[in-house]
Amino acid sequence: MPIPFLDLRAQLAPIRADIDRALHAVMESQAYVLGPFVTKFEVAFGAYLGVPHVVGMNSGTDALLIALRALGVGPGDEVLTAANGFFATAEAICHAGATPVFVDADPATALMDLTQLPAAITRKTRAIIPVHLYGQPVAMGPVLTLAKTHRWWVIEDACQAHGAIYKGRQAGTWGDVGCFSFYPGKNLGALGDGGALVTRDPAIAERARQLINHGGIKKYQHDQVGYNSRLDAMQAAILTVKLRHLDRWNAARNRWATAYRERLVAVRGVTTLAALDERRSNDHLFVIRVAPDRRDQIRARLDARGIATGIHYPQPLHEVLAALGRYPATQRFPVAEALCRSILSLPMYAELTEPMVDEVVDGLQGVCA
Ligand SMILES: *Cc1c(COP(=O)(O)O)cnc(C)c1O
Repeated sequence: MPIPFLDLRAQLAPIRADIDRALHAVMESQAYVLGPFVTKFEVAFGAYLGVPHVVGMNSGTDALLIALRALGVGPGDEVLTAANGFFATAEAICHAGATPVFVDADPATALMDLTQLPAAITRKTRAIIPVHLYGQPVAMGPVLTLAKTHRWWVIEDACQAHGAIYKGRQAGTWGDVGCFSFYPGKNLGALGDGGALVTRDPAIAERARQLINHGGIKKYQHDQVGYNSRLDAMQAAILTVKLRHLDRWNAARNRWATAYRERLVAVRGVTTLAALDERRSNDHLFVIRVAPDRRDQIRARLDARGIATGIHYPQPLHEVLAALGRYPATQRFPVAEALCRSILSLPMYAELTEPMVDEVVDGLQGVCA
């Protein structure tokens, strides 16, 4: 039984009739960019999150960039974020013209180590982008307290955290802005690219709506230099259908994560990341740690057994940017670097089955022993 890393076909099959109907409605409407289907999704996602303003756009990467632009963060400003994660977070900071300042990870969770934040602060710090990596929310209480003291903007990278909860409140709704991605493999994914910026502040939402549409809400009106980063009606209609299933899919992921955790306790040489109190992960990715010198072999042997795995992510962001001449090559973030060498992502999606989870654990048992 081959076990793919992700199975979008299995996710789509049971909702295929609803998706077909939604696409048909968009085709009939001839409103393909922005318009009523996009508004309908924005309202539905806002109601789901408990946040008044949702601005649909092109991608999660654009949501991060447009958040920075809408908040006026740019050249001369420093933005704090995690040293480990997906490149898009650092890319958005660079595109805004600001300087990323990285913070090392907590080895237990792989989330930004909040105790190391104070050392990273300078007079130029203007914003912080906590990343809810793998779907586990960062402790937003302490982040907001620090942000208030220092008057930073808080932009949550919730691109992996649809439906994740910290202290009873949705990830992405704690900061000034939350950024979501609807890339196909995310917990809420389109059949293509998509993203959203969410906020409680109507002025930020208004600026974001201008920025995604060539700087103006009306055609041929340009109040600022913007972008073309609108959400397609087709994708919005698909997302509206899929949103109804998100909580059920996340609950299934939570069950498989619990099953992995319980069974992996017995596997020598494998450690799992800590699941913290007061928060519910959406288990976007299930990441384990193994000995760095054995990881490639473990991956290859699992692969030979038909079990696909991933590495999220192979290189820390300070190294990626240093290689591009955009970050001091002398900076070290030892925990992020060690994580990158030892992490391994196991298959994780709602449509897994108990025999599949058993097979993955048996496979690991076989190669790690
Ligand atoms: C996916 C992702 C992004 C970028 O989203 P896209 O929609 O692919 O542009 C940004 N940050 C994190 C943490 C992500 O996982």
